[in-house]
Amino acid sequence: MGSWQDIFEVKMVDMHLADPWMLQEDDTLQVHVLEPGWKEFVQRRAFGRFQCSQCFREWSSAKVHILFHMHRHRGKGMVRMRVFRQACRRCPNPPLEEPMFNQETMERLLHNLVLKILKYFYHMHVQSSDLLEVVVDAPVAGPHDSTRCEGCQLGICSKSKLALVPHAWEPPVDADVERIHYSRNRQNTRRYATPIHTPLPCNSSFPWKRCCCIGSSLLCILAVLLFVLLYFIMK
Ligand SMILES: [Zn+2]
Ligand SMILES: [Zn+2]
Repeated sequence: MGSWQDIFEVKMVDMHLADPWMLQEDDTLQVHVLEPGWKEFVQRRAFGRFQCSQCFREWSSAKVHILFHMHRHRGKGMVRMRVFRQACRRCPNPPLEEPMFNQETMERLLHNLVLKILKYFYHMHVQSSDLLEVVVDAPVAGPHDSTRCEGCQLGICSKSKLALVPHAWEPPVDADVERIHYSRNRQNTRRYATPIHTPLPCNSSFPWKRCCCIGSSLLCILAVLLFVLLYFIMK
């Protein structure tokens, strides 16, 4: 599994960006606190897994937020990122833990980041529909524990556009709960099944669905006409 910087470099090459860009983690980044010339992108609702370093309990959350600040100067780019942490809800004084992401989630996050870079620094036309959903690959349920969430404390969680997926996840206890979550998860997977290596964003707005609908309607009408014609010929 590659590091953030490795995947970021691959994405930059995929998008045919020749400028050198650096990606650094920075835990001091603050939302909306930017030096002149810097741009901000907040990726909300990423799916991450956590483990408590005190009791080793594991949990997952679909509400992990990542803050990116980016800047380009004299052909060189710099991105600083901060991943918001969460703390264990069972321990009395738990430290904030960093989430772990799977490879696909990291790739989608950085795909979205590169699109934002293209938009802000290379004046490419990028629509919000070009951004990929960040994958939810496991059942997620349970209440949102704001007191143990760094994003909440810094006012990021509450600004989520969609509150479709609840926050933290406790492992399901009985089979019924698991089955319900599983089917919900399958729906999510289908919804998020967008290819990662989309070509450059401008082509993706072509209305394939509408074309298919019109095409199949025309075919149906043609078939009916043929039947009527044959009916009269046979008579
Ligand atoms: Zn704990
Ligand atoms: Zn939160």
